[in-house]
Amino acid sequence: MKKREALLIKPHHFLDIIKLYGSGLESFVPNVEYGHDFWKVGNEILGDATIWLELTVGNDVICGPCKCNDGLICSGLTIADSKEISKDTWNKTIDERLLSILGLKGGAKLSALEFCKLAKEKISREDIFAVWKEKPIEITEKRADFLTRGIEKYLEKYA
Ligand code: SF4
Repeated sequence: MKKREALLIKPHHFLDIIKLYGSGLESFVPNVEYGHDFWKVGNEILGDATIWLELTVGNDVICGPCKCNDGLICSGLTIADSKEISKDTWNKTIDERLLSILGLKGGAKLSALEFCKLAKEKISREDIFAVWKEKPIEITEKRADFLTRGIEKYLEKYA
């Protein structure tokens, strides 16, 4: 049988999908403002835990049609430590932190289910606050709650 191609994905994008699942969302709809494929990839991952992923800190399959995708980097801006910074720099910072906690490198391949199991095993609540330390604490508290719940829900459904 031919092996399916892996979806190239940033670690934090995968965890955002699982976090939103933990917040109660069961499916995603297109984002009109950015036009990215978060909804499409999110629905694939929520519907199939055997889906194969390849981790990257660069632009991924979600970025494809996004208005901020300039080919090599994300041209968007975000706020970190109360300052406006390059979203590409920010994304690479948090994705490198996540890869280090997970004990993985860019290019690693694993299934969505394996990623979720690894996240449960390796990413503590303290780690979530360390990875997103430049973001407001009240937002990170919600992130930690929803991500923990999302991982549990995904494993209850598929493990
Ligand atoms: S290009 Fe930037 S804003 Fe668009 S999906 Fe990718 S990381 Fe997000």
